[in-house]
Amino acid sequence: MSKLHLQSFEKALHTLTDMGQYRSIPVIQHQGKWIEKEGKRMLNLSSNDYLGLASNQALREAFGEQYKGRSFPAFSTSSSRLLTGAFTEHKQLETVMATIFQREACLLFNSGYHANIGILSAIADRQTLIIADKLVHASLIDGIRLSGAKFLRYRHNDYTHLMQLLTTYYAQYERIIIVTESVFSMDGDIADLPQLVALKREFPTILLYVDEAHAIGVYGENGLGMADQQACIADIDFLVGTFGKALASMGAYVICDEVVKQYLINTVRSFIFSTALPPICVAWTLFLIEQLSSFTQQRQHLYQLSKQLQSAIRLLGQDVLSQTCIVPYMIGDNLTTVKRAERLQQQGFYCLPIRPPTVPKETARIRFSLTADMTEQELNTLISCLNHQEVGI
Ligand SMILES: *Cc1c(COP(=O)(O)O)cnc(C)c1O
Repeated sequence: MSKLHLQSFEKALHTLTDMGQYRSIPVIQHQGKWIEKEGKRMLNLSSNDYLGLASNQALREAFGEQYKGRSFPAFSTSSSRLLTGAFTEHKQLETVMATIFQREACLLFNSGYHANIGILSAIADRQTLIIADKLVHASLIDGIRLSGAKFLRYRHNDYTHLMQLLTTYYAQYERIIIVTESVFSMDGDIADLPQLVALKREFPTILLYVDEAHAIGVYGENGLGMADQQACIADIDFLVGTFGKALASMGAYVICDEVVKQYLINTVRSFIFSTALPPICVAWTLFLIEQLSSFTQQRQHLYQLSKQLQSAIRLLGQDVLSQTCIVPYMIGDNLTTVKRAERLQQQGFYCLPIRPPTVPKETARIRFSLTADMTEQELNTLISCLNHQEVGI
């Protein structure tokens, strides 16, 4: 590349550095729930492996056992499912997913990112109004932008504001899509899905699009997510989730009506123009999904740990909104946040400072993400470190 081009890329990186927004990929080793960075072993408090399945060696071995004496499923589909990439594993997983969700259909995607950008841009156009929660994930924002639809946001979890927007704009659009996450990744708070479902009765042109990325596997009696816990799976038009977080795999899904599935197969560009997931990966997902309802103990333990951390932080005088295993510890000032996260890392806890623009100004925080393979004792040690920090020790 010419020097001129190199310099201009370099300049952009300098600007990011000056703004404190330069990103780099950390060099870390994984050992179950532990990670090792620069020779230091730390409990991983930044993981999405909520049930501890990704770090569970026994599960991996049990999966391998299934193939003793016969060959593994293929490691590549070599093309889109619409060409020669159709494999039985994908169909099987879709059937099982639709069955456990008690809905007509399920369609797989290569990732949650593929699902969100692909589906939203396929179901919305310039005649559509999309109203999304202020804090939805970047993949949802990208999908909305790609669609070219009219786009409004309501204040985070503020359904009075949403109602005002609906009342103002309702009559002008044939299709209105409300987009939310069920568990929000930075505050660990949750959407009130039944309240959103109720809006559909008042405004029949509404479609509900819910992203369960941080909820699938973790909530609900059978681990089907927040829509399961809040008993409204049947009422959500596009129930999306990823296999990459609690489900310890890769890929994503949408639960929907059969007609919608056929429409998506015909229109979603990230589905049509991308090589389908490796059958070996889909088989692994299926292996875990079939056991999903049996991970009750993990879910209950995680629930206990979450309550414990939430109350400990509340005792430090903070207003804790989290109702999940994602628990932010609010600090406010950027520099103090970075320093405190560093201190916790020295004490053996791998947690990260989250600063603006990822979160609103003055709300820099350390984000703790608990997993079911942590012990109560490990959490107690973390809590005592937090207590000591608070009094300046
Ligand atoms: C992680 C995440 C995604 C992306 O899912 P991937 O499978 O990792 O691409 C989408 N939505 C939300 C809310 C997420 O947190």
